[in-house]
Amino acid sequence: MAPRPYSSIMTLAIRTTLAIFVFAGGAYAQQTPAWTEPFPPFHIAGNLYYVGSKGLANYLIATPQGHILINSDLEANVPLIRASVEKLGFRFGDVKILLISHAHWDHDAASASILRATGAKYMVMEGDVPVVESGGKADFQYGADASARYPSAKVDRVLHDGDEVKLGDAVLVAHLTPGHTKGCTTWTMKVREAGKTEDVVIVGSPNVNPGYKLVDNPLYPEIASDYERTFRVLKSLPCDIFLGAHGGYFNMEGKYARFKELGAAAFVDPDGYRKFVAEKEKEFRAELTRQRGVPR
Ligand SMILES: [Zn+2]
Repeated sequence: MAPRPYSSIMTLAIRTTLAIFVFAGGAYAQQTPAWTEPFPPFHIAGNLYYVGSKGLANYLIATPQGHILINSDLEANVPLIRASVEKLGFRFGDVKILLISHAHWDHDAASASILRATGAKYMVMEGDVPVVESGGKADFQYGADASARYPSAKVDRVLHDGDEVKLGDAVLVAHLTPGHTKGCTTWTMKVREAGKTEDVVIVGSPNVNPGYKLVDNPLYPEIASDYERTFRVLKSLPCDIFLGAHGGYFNMEGKYARFKELGAAAFVDPDGYRKFVAEKEKEFRAELTRQRGVPR
């Protein structure tokens, strides 16, 4: 890259500072363009399909008795999700169960709208129930931020760690992986592909967001030990096919490029999964150490 004149470096520096300021200053629910950018739907393995956008992951588990959809995303994503489901040859109206990765607007803001459109049952992990039922107001971090709110949705079944969600021949297991939200959920299932059974892990989120208070947090006193639990759980899960709430977790675009030759094998990545979990745990521990070191 050619060297930039001083003035443009300054402009860039000011812009970057402003962007960080806005981000940290409360307008957290700003969108990333990739969140609403369409992505081709595709068959991952067994009865599992990708029906998300470039930046927000949605999964369809299709059965003859109806379908399970993971994540509702933003309102703007609903037409994209519907189009993806239909492009794969399924009916959006056959979605019988709606699940989420965790109760943040980028994964659950359109739940009320999808529940209305499909008549699906909403099943949510206990710790996230007050958040989804209050449209984001009960969130420990963003509850006071109007830009992080969305239409509230009634939960039909409250899930607990280890609960199974069954529909037709599909069985998903809900693993409580809290910290990022109180009910953050990592979904696992088994798929049969080319005569083999593969373990699928759909990571909820192990991220410590900017501004998260890991020490002496009156709104979430057990946040640090919850993250500890999350890393214990994630490390214990058998994983062949590595997926998550955002495509960025598992390099979806890179893997999709190889998907055309390799098929489902492109998403088999146990090493990538272990590396991702180890990296996120390192980030969490560094942040915890930093916050513990700050004199109070
Ligand atoms: Zn989140």
